[in-house]
Amino acid sequence: MKLLIGGQWAQAVSGRREDVTSPFDGSVVGSVSLAGREDVDGALAAATEGARVWRRTPAHQRMRILLQAAALADERAESIAQTISAEAGKAITEARGEASRSGELIRLAAFEGTQLYGDSLPLDANPGTGFDKVGFTVRQPVGVVVAITPFNYPSLLVLHKVAPALAAGNAVVLKPARTTPLTALALAACFVDAGLPEGVLSVLTGAGGELGDALVSDPRVNKISFTGSTPIGTRITQMAGVKKLSLELGASCPVVVLPDADIDAATAAVALGGFVNAGQVCISVQRVITHPKIAGDFLDALVPRVRQISTGDPGSTETGMGTLITEQEAERVERSIRAAVRDGATLLTGGERDGAVMSPAVVTGVDPDSPFSQDELFGPAVAVSIAEDWQSAIAQANGTAYGLGAGIFTSDVSGAVRAIRELDTGTIHINWTPLWRADLMPYGGLKGSGIGKEGPRSAVAEMTDVKTVILHGRPW
Ligand code: NAP
Repeated sequence: MKLLIGGQWAQAVSGRREDVTSPFDGSVVGSVSLAGREDVDGALAAATEGARVWRRTPAHQRMRILLQAAALADERAESIAQTISAEAGKAITEARGEASRSGELIRLAAFEGTQLYGDSLPLDANPGTGFDKVGFTVRQPVGVVVAITPFNYPSLLVLHKVAPALAAGNAVVLKPARTTPLTALALAACFVDAGLPEGVLSVLTGAGGELGDALVSDPRVNKISFTGSTPIGTRITQMAGVKKLSLELGASCPVVVLPDADIDAATAAVALGGFVNAGQVCISVQRVITHPKIAGDFLDALVPRVRQISTGDPGSTETGMGTLITEQEAERVERSIRAAVRDGATLLTGGERDGAVMSPAVVTGVDPDSPFSQDELFGPAVAVSIAEDWQSAIAQANGTAYGLGAGIFTSDVSGAVRAIRELDTGTIHINWTPLWRADLMPYGGLKGSGIGKEGPRSAVAEMTDVKTVILHGRPW
């Protein structure tokens, strides 16, 4: 596959290409152009022109093209699922689930792009203004959006940026993760085949380390929408200059299990929420905080459930959990588990590695201040710790630099309400884990987990500018 610049499938200026390989068996899944700085310039020049054309395209026409792209994404869902599974090592059943959400997500965004309402300003409420002036706001596209996406949901996270940006009337330059460019190109093809004008969407495949600074610091860019790790997000804030910025970053998500919780429901949810996509989800359960009264029962119920998760060939429908994105990533997670055990934690199950495949792990007796709790693990392991009372459970849950999602299991409504107020996370789930998302909901982290919200309505709001207009019926 080639780069997409200005609506044309093009080779990188350098002519360099690289293979995309399966993390499971190293087989070649496809190959892509390796974009360089010249291609960044080409894509931004095309986007600047594309943005001019697209902002003058009426919302109903934009919606029609997006609806056609959604229909194509539906038609191509199985092929997109196969691509996700092959390049990301995601179990095919999960990849099918991801790909099947594409069409609906584009349709949600298409609708929101037709809802760019403004406000009428009650200027006469301002003393001295009277009735001689009329004020209102107008919402319009920001212009050129740079979207940078990670590997772990190569379809959904691309669409959570590209679809609302296009729906709102912006041009987009997309830089997908280097490990998962084929899914991004397959999705871009849906928009191009649906009739998106030239230059409105470009995909730059290549190394973020090489392209990132040039992309985010360019003054032609009006908005950066980044999903990825906190260190790269921090670098982007330093490089970007004065621009609109959305950052969906890392996490170490907690689940609090109170003594009055339904243990069976809590363990079933944690056995899912800690291990979907081999734990490579920003809203994965990383830490479980239990009361000493129920900790034993909780672990007794959790461990057998986790042992039941089958691992192996991501292409097989028998596989519950596929690979990590690379063997190096699996080695990193293996090292983190070993370090936790060295520091006094107990490994109750899992933690073995075969290439990029890891067995799902449960670790107990983890020090809440240790790196295993504090740093983002992004792998298939759950750390279980103890908190003596409600206040210390909430303090532990809040006790990292992150604040993306949290869950609390309890049958006490007043405890749940207190938790809603006191948990410092962007999303809070009562009687479920943070690993749950409806594509339309506002979604984004607090603290080190990011800035801004995604979800089509929120993203359209963040990818548009508001102008205030005053009509003066008389001077001053
Ligand atoms: P990553 O290493 O931060 O990479 C994310 C994207 O940034 C990739 O496209 C990467 O390109 C690019 N990049 C690398 N260096 C860059 C630079 N200097 N300037 C601009 N872009 C650069 O993250 P990842 O490993 O793909 O994904 C895992 C991380 O994403 C985790 O921390 C996870 O929590 C986070 N995440 C957050 C959310 C959320 O909603 N909060 C959702 C999903 C994932 P290359 O691939 O070419 O290096």
